[in-house]
Amino acid sequence: MSNYKVVPMDEKTWRIEEENPLCSVYMYLLAGEKEALLIDAGYGKIPLDEIVASLTSLPVRVILTHGHFDHVGGTGRFERVWLHPADAEMYGNYAVSLARQKREDMAKEQTGAETGPQKIEPWLNETVTLLNVEEPLDLGGRRLKLIHVPGHSGGCICILDEERGWLFTGDTCCEGDVLLNLQYSQKADVYLESLKKLEQEKFSVTWPAHHRVPVEPEIIQEFEEAAQLLCGKQAEGECVDTSFGPSRRLKHKRIGILYKDET
Ligand SMILES: [Zn+2]
Ligand SMILES: [Zn+2]
Repeated sequence: MSNYKVVPMDEKTWRIEEENPLCSVYMYLLAGEKEALLIDAGYGKIPLDEIVASLTSLPVRVILTHGHFDHVGGTGRFERVWLHPADAEMYGNYAVSLARQKREDMAKEQTGAETGPQKIEPWLNETVTLLNVEEPLDLGGRRLKLIHVPGHSGGCICILDEERGWLFTGDTCCEGDVLLNLQYSQKADVYLESLKKLEQEKFSVTWPAHHRVPVEPEIIQEFEEAAQLLCGKQAEGECVDTSFGPSRRLKHKRIGILYKDET
């Protein structure tokens, strides 16, 4: 049974949904006249390069919304991938630990049965090209704007399809909790500035990487209100245990912000 689904969004756009018991993740493929853009690379457990090739014959540029494992897993299937420089260190650490794991697995195999070394997934493209968000991206008749939105990680970006009024938001404002409690997360004030930056753009729909899609743009307002409450010390989240250690969670309307105490 396949663990992914391709959902056409219009004649030049597709959503690739990779199912995973942890949390399903969505990638988006946008075709122009000269080039196509793949937003994110998922967990790396599906034949992403083959799926993309079955949808478009254009050369494909892969841009990562950020460097987390559920967005970069399939990068090894592509020659070149772009990432915001602020997430390069995180990506490097992840790639390094994976490579180590891979070597250990292969060593185990060699001492064991006659089976040759297997391709261990996910495997990553170990070098990323650093993204310049100032550079306009034109796929040929399809202009896209890259917006740096540090918060969930330092190198998070959103991608705006101006003509369609679509904002691809990665993990920055899914309908759920935003995680600011991770190793490379930024504080609520940085996240708040990023949300304000998004508010200045024109779009009618947001397409996040997880949970319900699409989501109305008002969701950004909800995150902004919650971040504002935290920054103004008008609210405090309740203590919760997470797989990333003890954190706080501020619930607000449809969303939540997970963060660490300042201390
Ligand atoms: Zn993430
Ligand atoms: Zn994610």
